[in-house]
Amino acid sequence: MALRYSKCGLPAMTVEVKGLGVRCSECKREEAVIELKYARKKLCPKCFTDFFVRRVKRTVEKYRMFGPKDRVAVALSGGKDSVALLDALKRAFPDQDIVAFYIDLGIHHYSSHLKEKVKALTDRLGVPLYIYDLKEREGYVIDDFLTTKFRSKMCSVCGIVKRAVFTQMAKEVGATVMATGHNLDDTVGTMLSAFFAGDFESISRLRPVLKPLVPGQPKKVKPLFNTPEMEDLYYVVINDLPVQECHCPHSFGASVSKYKRMLDEMEKSNPNVKFQLLSVFLKKLVPMYEKVKEMEEERTQVFLEVKECKVCGLPTSSPDGICSRCRRVAMLKERGGQKVEISAEEVRSLMEEGKRVVFVDVRSPSAYRMERIPGAINVPKEEFEFNQRKAIKKLRRKYGKGTVFVTYCYAGRESYPVAVALRRGGLKGYSLLGGISEWKEKGGEVETSDAEVKTGT
Ligand code: SF4
Ligand code: ZN
Repeated sequence: MALRYSKCGLPAMTVEVKGLGVRCSECKREEAVIELKYARKKLCPKCFTDFFVRRVKRTVEKYRMFGPKDRVAVALSGGKDSVALLDALKRAFPDQDIVAFYIDLGIHHYSSHLKEKVKALTDRLGVPLYIYDLKEREGYVIDDFLTTKFRSKMCSVCGIVKRAVFTQMAKEVGATVMATGHNLDDTVGTMLSAFFAGDFESISRLRPVLKPLVPGQPKKVKPLFNTPEMEDLYYVVINDLPVQECHCPHSFGASVSKYKRMLDEMEKSNPNVKFQLLSVFLKKLVPMYEKVKEMEEERTQVFLEVKECKVCGLPTSSPDGICSRCRRVAMLKERGGQKVEISAEEVRSLMEEGKRVVFVDVRSPSAYRMERIPGAINVPKEEFEFNQRKAIKKLRRKYGKGTVFVTYCYAGRESYPVAVALRRGGLKGYSLLGGISEWKEKGGEVETSDAEVKTGT
């Protein structure tokens, strides 16, 4: 069993689950394929699935995440965590009213890929799927933020939008509980980083159950908060579930948090470390912090006032009465929608206007040598991905900030993330719509000689 999996911020990886050469410690019959060091178990596919589902069931029951009368909405992203969550919840609670939510964020080449995956999954599980099309409903897409000051914080804007939309969707379909796929590694990693920043408020929000701020809002639950990240992935592979296979262009160049890496290091000598930290935080630190906060509020008589956002009506505690999503969207609308893709005609008119245009061929050197747009430089995507910051700096130094960089590949899929990264780096990056194929179709010039090849930035 193998799966090509791509996680935001990491190069695609192939995950393989294969026999360990020993029998399963549960059934003692089948060959074990997964070792869980913290539990001192080696499990076969079936026993691992049972183990996983049992933990989800126990967690839901222990923390009273939902009851038989609740309508539970699972926020699907198409990534391994939410996919494993939906499947496991369906197995653990076959009679529960469960629905799935997906937000089409309009992220180029990515959102549509994920939509296909979540459709396939929900079809297979017989779960009703509600899709919220951001463009259709609100007139903008996440990519539009690339032209605002948030271009270097795309994931944070995206997270704010997603949270607001999920709450809105829950209201629309009458879901009383909203389940998300946060796993153990996310939870403990975020906890540690908040701890070092002294941000105890964020730590207390990492609890597995968050009651609604105002009545009528869904309760938020995290049934996988004590499931190690890798196990979500194994679960998806073993059960052959449809899952994301390419990564978000905005995660390009992002890296796994240093705290998560630190934890993985610590885990090598202490397989229990993540569970231990989770328990200290939730059982000791959070209750202590909440008590102090309560006392403080009583002493100063300053209570966090939650009101309805003047624009969208969702709860907010911001002093001006406009929630953080609506504030960001307002800024976006002021800017007017600029786009990251550009057609061959538009490139030509830019050149006619006298703009300095530099074509950046992101394909392999051999493809570039064979055929390219005249004057293009070759910056293979892998190379760029590997040392993005340096590449952007070099381009800026060599061509100047006013230059328009038009990235292209065969059809536009590979060049888009590079254009996005150039934008984030403060350069005017565009991706050529339809790539070199469409360029040629529209009568654009290409050169094919081997002579005078310039590679690199
Ligand atoms: Fe995920 Fe960030 Fe892409 Fe949003 S923008 S889908 S948070 S990687
Ligand atoms: Zn709002």
